[in-house]
Amino acid sequence: MYGDGVAGTTIFTVMTALAEETGAVNLGQGFPDEDGPSAIVDAAVEAMRTGHNQYAPLPGVPALRHAIADHQRRHYGIELDPDAEVQVTFGATEALAAAVLALVGEGDEVAVLDPAYDSYEPVVGLAGGTVRRIRLRPPGWRVEAAAVGDAVTPRTRVLLLNSPHNPTGRVFDTGELELLAEACRANDLVALTDEVYEHLVYDGRHVPLATLPGMRERTVTVSSLGKTHSLTGWKVGWASGPAELIGRVRGVKQFLTFAGGTPFQHAAAAGLELPATELVEELRSKRDRLSAALAECGFGVLESAGTYFLNADAAPLGEEDAAALCMRLPHEAGVVAIPVSAFSAETEGPLRPIVRFAFCKSDEVLDEGIARLRAWAEAR
Ligand code: PMP
Ligand code: GLN
Repeated sequence: MYGDGVAGTTIFTVMTALAEETGAVNLGQGFPDEDGPSAIVDAAVEAMRTGHNQYAPLPGVPALRHAIADHQRRHYGIELDPDAEVQVTFGATEALAAAVLALVGEGDEVAVLDPAYDSYEPVVGLAGGTVRRIRLRPPGWRVEAAAVGDAVTPRTRVLLLNSPHNPTGRVFDTGELELLAEACRANDLVALTDEVYEHLVYDGRHVPLATLPGMRERTVTVSSLGKTHSLTGWKVGWASGPAELIGRVRGVKQFLTFAGGTPFQHAAAAGLELPATELVEELRSKRDRLSAALAECGFGVLESAGTYFLNADAAPLGEEDAAALCMRLPHEAGVVAIPVSAFSAETEGPLRPIVRFAFCKSDEVLDEGIARLRAWAEAR
């Protein structure tokens, strides 16, 4: 893992600084370089101009809580009470942190996928808990029963799932979700699900874990506006689920940041009503373009069904250590990418040569990145 627990610097910060220092094309940190719909931006400006600039109520502004409840009903058939079962947060990151702090205590364990997004383990550590990893292996990155069995013990309290999954691009299928749901039901675990890429799906279908039998009452579902509408800097997120669990999340969130981002909350309410179809089609074609180019460069390209990340195996190029390659690439090729080992406890083994590329970039930036990678591959 990059960084050193809570005191470390994230791989995203390190690699973005390297991109700036070297002038490299940044296909590392996952942020879109084109802003989301102007209708949503206009709604934020309008909210600021019409006096929505003071603290929001702790649960979030009613318009957004209603929009979240409508969204969950419309897309997934999940019914929520917008007052007691929805909590607005500063991004998914705060929702996940508040949930972990609310649900995990000293000595408790949390089952997480490996590889996983980098904020999970430090925040479990802040709560006094430890993570146990459900290992996924390339190229399929499938959730296997044996790996789930290894990760769940009598000390496990929470199972933290992320689907669509960063960094692999997997959208877990219903068979895999059922394995995880069964582990939760059989061991009386709370499921905490990170669904920030719920709309960025190119193949298959996103199924929230809360919709599986017996899961609604034990699942805290987390999402945010940032990925769906290319507004990552706004940090409008939310948690939803049964009133008892959301009440506990709210209790912690109150002392993390209380409530804010009021105009962005109003704009997010408008944004949640808009489809992300256009963005998804654009991203699909960027994914296909980058996949084809990486394959021509000699990488072994893995499938990506969702998110805006693509994994590529550098071993066919004679590069067995993606971490070392990613430190050289900005200098040698003028491109920044991120080693998947940065998201894992395993620095050896099958994910060692795997590189993550972000394709949520403008056509010009992506084309420039592709041209540089081709030149680099040809010159080898
Ligand atoms: N979870 C995952 C899997 C992510 O990739 C991200 C993106 N940074 C986040 C959570 C954070 O979401 P937010 O920006 O809404 O806090
Ligand atoms: N979600 C983004 C990624 O995985 C990074 C966000 C961050 O910098 N923490 O690239």
